[in-house]
Amino acid sequence: MLTVAEALQKVQDCVTALPPLVVPLEQALGRVTAEAIASDVDSPPYDKSMVDGYAICYADLKDGVVELRFLEEVTAGEVPTVDVASGTTTRIMTGAPMPAGADAVVMVERSTELTNGAIRLEDHKAKLGQNIVRRAAVMSRGDEVLPAGKLVTPTVVGLLAEVGRAEVRVVPRPRVAVLATGNELVEPREKPGPGQIRNSNGPMLAAQVMRTGAEPVVLGIARDDRESLRTKIAAGLETDLLVLSGGVSAGVLDLVPSVLAELGVREVFHKISMKPGKPLWFGLRESADGRPTPVFGLPGNPVSSLVCFELFVRPAIAQLAGLEWPDEPRHLATLLEPFSHRGDRPTFWPGRREERTCGFFGQAVEPLRWQGSGDLRTLVDADCLICFPAGDRAYVAGEEVDVRPFC
Ligand code: AMP
Ligand code: MG
Repeated sequence: MLTVAEALQKVQDCVTALPPLVVPLEQALGRVTAEAIASDVDSPPYDKSMVDGYAICYADLKDGVVELRFLEEVTAGEVPTVDVASGTTTRIMTGAPMPAGADAVVMVERSTELTNGAIRLEDHKAKLGQNIVRRAAVMSRGDEVLPAGKLVTPTVVGLLAEVGRAEVRVVPRPRVAVLATGNELVEPREKPGPGQIRNSNGPMLAAQVMRTGAEPVVLGIARDDRESLRTKIAAGLETDLLVLSGGVSAGVLDLVPSVLAELGVREVFHKISMKPGKPLWFGLRESADGRPTPVFGLPGNPVSSLVCFELFVRPAIAQLAGLEWPDEPRHLATLLEPFSHRGDRPTFWPGRREERTCGFFGQAVEPLRWQGSGDLRTLVDADCLICFPAGDRAYVAGEEVDVRPFC
C-alpha cells in the first residue's frame, strides 16, 4: 500500500494546468494569469497633485510666507489653461494635472484667501517638488506590471483595469463533477426509509469544491448498478475532474473501480496507508485531445471523504487551476490531553487548537472525542487533524504532535 506522501506525489505527477483562455476582467478573480501583462499607459499619466492646495513656483516661498495672485482653479478631470509664473498661483485639487511653471503644491490648510482675492500661503518647511507625483513615477508605458502565473486578487483586478486590460488570458476555473454512489442514499430533503441514509457527501464535496474556487457540477446520486454508474460517470468525465464518493471498498456492490475501468479510466492507485481513507482510488482517463481527466473515488464514509478531499483533491484542483502544488500545511502543537493511538496506519484524528500563553507560547491541541469515520458531527468542532504516525503508542499531555489545519 502506498504511503500518503507517495500517493500525493503520484497525483501531483498526473495533474497539469488547464489550457488558458481569454476571459473578461470581471471573470478573472481567483484565476491565475497565463500571460505577462504590460502597461499601455504611464501612471500617473501626467505630473499630478497629491493634495488639495495651491500650485506655486517654489522660489516664491523662500521666506516661508507669500501672497500670490490667484489664476484659476483646476479640479481632477480638468486641465490647466494658464501657466504659473512667479507671483501667481493656481488652486489645484488632488489628482489634477500640474500647471506648467509650478514646482510645488502648498496644502489648502496652509492658505488664506484675502479680501482682495489674493492668496496668502504660509509653509516654513516647504520643499521643492512637494506634493507632486511625477508622470510615470509608478509605471511607464510598456513596463511589465504582472508576470504570468500570478493569482488574480482584487488588487490585481484593479491593476489590470488601470493598464487597460478588459480581457485577460488566464487558466480557467476548473469544473469539478461530484457524484455520490450508493443504493442506501436519499436526498437531504427526503426522510430516510428503512436501511436508508441521506446523501451528506454530495453537498459537502460540492461545498469543498466551491471553497477551492472551482465550479462544482453536481451529478446527484448513482445507484450501485453498472448502468446507473456508467451513465453518471460518463457525464462526469466531460468535466475537468471527477470526484466520486462510495463504492471503492471491498463490498459486493463496490462497483466503481470496475465501471471506471470499462469507461477507459486507468487506475493509478487504489488503497493507501492512512486512516480514515484507506480505500481511496485515483485514476486518469486519457482523452482524444491528450489531456487526461483525473478521477478520484473517495471512500463513502463522510469523514473519510472529507479528509481525502482535503489531502488529495484540493491540491489537485489547485494544480489544474494553474497554482503551485501547495505544501502540506503542517505544524507542531502541544497535546492538551493524553492520547492513546493504536493501529498500523498513520491516523488523521480531529482536533481543536487553542493559543496558549500561560506556561508556554504556542499552539495547544485537544483531540476530540470521535466515533470514527461515520461521525461527521464531531468534525464540526474540529479545526485541524492531528497526524499520528502508524504504531501503537500512548502519548502524554505536553507532547508535541503534528497538526494539519483545515476549515
Ligand atoms: P462505501 O464506501 O460505499 O462502502 O460506504 C461506506 C459508508 O459510507 C457506508 O456506511 C455508506 O452508507 C456511507 N456513505 C456512502 N456514501 C455516502 C454519502 N454520499 N453520504 C453519506 N454517507 C455515505
Ligand atoms: Mg456504497
